[in-house]
Amino acid sequence: MRALELSYHLDFTTSLHVGTGMGFTKMVDETICRAGPALGGRARLPCVPGSSVKGKVRSRCEALANSLGLRLCEKGERVCKQSPCIICRLFGSAYNPGRLRFSDALLIEPWRRFARPEFGREAETARDPFILSSVRMGNKLERATRTVEQDLLFSLEHTANRLQFGGSIQGYLDDRTFAGDALTLPVEAWLLIVGLRLVDKLGGGRSRGLGRCCIMISSLTLDGGENLADDLPAILLTDECLLGLSEYETSS
Ligand SMILES: [Zn+2]
Repeated sequence: MRALELSYHLDFTTSLHVGTGMGFTKMVDETICRAGPALGGRARLPCVPGSSVKGKVRSRCEALANSLGLRLCEKGERVCKQSPCIICRLFGSAYNPGRLRFSDALLIEPWRRFARPEFGREAETARDPFILSSVRMGNKLERATRTVEQDLLFSLEHTANRLQFGGSIQGYLDDRTFAGDALTLPVEAWLLIVGLRLVDKLGGGRSRGLGRCCIMISSLTLDGGENLADDLPAILLTDECLLGLSEYETSS
């Protein structure tokens, strides 16, 4: 097993809606997730829950593993009890918790200053439940008839445009690398890293163009070693990565 520590930047090119499933009094039907006082100050700034990032990365990794012919659980089945597949080992299943822990992604500078007292508007912003967000109205369409349902005008809160968040992933990885090669990265790390880079959308309202994003890995260490982030492009382009995968744990 190898200990993984990974930090990433999550940059949005649009606004974002990761919902709480709750409304705000009678003003907004669907509010966005906000961080607690961990960010300092009393203003509750938008955040992206670790579970949202994890869910999206999981589905990207799953598609990737599938396209590479790795052994996976039966489609639609998330059990993988006896010998968990690579996706269940990393992200968990009904029988094991998974080895990766995703922190919530919190706003980074310069956005964070909105939570600081010296920003000078603290008294104001602490009271503002919609800081760094706005609310848009929408109609709910009845799918069958494609008509607007009666009395169903709804309001959706979404973040400001182009927010930037930072998050981290910690966990343990299987030590296996690619067959017959001395590559730096275990297969599980490789899959996770490419999966992260494949994330291009997060959250709800994607059909309305919300949640366009990309993830950049800012630091990556294995067993507390050197930061591999700068070398990743070169590592990922190594031909042996893909060649070796076919001998790793295939579905056949
Ligand atoms: Zn599985």
